[in-house]
Amino acid sequence: MTAEKLKIALVAHDACKPALVEWAKTHADFLENVEIFATGTTGGKLQDSNPNFSVHRFKSGPLGGDQQIGAMICEGKLDALIFFIDPLSPMPHDVDVKALTRLAIVYDLPMASSAATANFIVEGLS
Ligand code: PGA
Repeated sequence: MTAEKLKIALVAHDACKPALVEWAKTHADFLENVEIFATGTTGGKLQDSNPNFSVHRFKSGPLGGDQQIGAMICEGKLDALIFFIDPLSPMPHDVDVKALTRLAIVYDLPMASSAATANFIVEGLS
């Protein structure tokens, strides 16, 4: 019997997408062995960056992708949320961002919002 793979959600706001893709490259060994759940555009960039990643793409964040990831958290289906949040730009879907991070806190899900904290999550789950 094979152990179930970890399920990790990865999301990045537009200005942070290059940083997330770079971060994912440095953790490719780990990420190639988990199931990645991502918002649409983030997921596309991650998949393009490494065909060995297993990426499930939800809708784009502003169209409900953040909420779909939030639903996974409610259902206990995620092991961590790594969400590179842009702290410098106003977002039309700011309420969705708040809802997603709130649910991660409600369910005590490990959550990182930048590379430094995401490194700790990888270390903790490896
Ligand atoms: P995106 O969504 O990956 O589809 O750009 C991310 C977000 O802005 O929440």
